[in-house]
Amino acid sequence: MPNPCAHLDAITDIKPAKAYECAECVKTGSRWVHLRTCQECGITHCCDNSPNKHATKHFKASHHPVIASAEPGERWVYCFPDEAFAEY
Ligand SMILES: [Zn+2]
Ligand SMILES: [Zn+2]
Ligand SMILES: [Zn+2]
Repeated sequence: MPNPCAHLDAITDIKPAKAYECAECVKTGSRWVHLRTCQECGITHCCDNSPNKHATKHFKASHHPVIASAEPGERWVYCFPDEAFAEY
């Protein structure tokens, strides 16, 4: 049973990744594993399997709650504060 989440319920259009790279890792030449796009501001960051975990850091700094996977073929969104996950 998924957690109830008003953040995911409020999303009608998924913001796609503007660039297929982590906005922070490219500055430092770091590597990433998977990419996630913030659904509040549209910036793309690396996932928690990546050494720098920039998507989680972005949430902690900005409190933008929802990310979408930016990986080709993946169609899901995740809410950090509610730990809620939904496919679309
Ligand atoms: Zn939520
Ligand atoms: Zn990164
Ligand atoms: Zn954001």
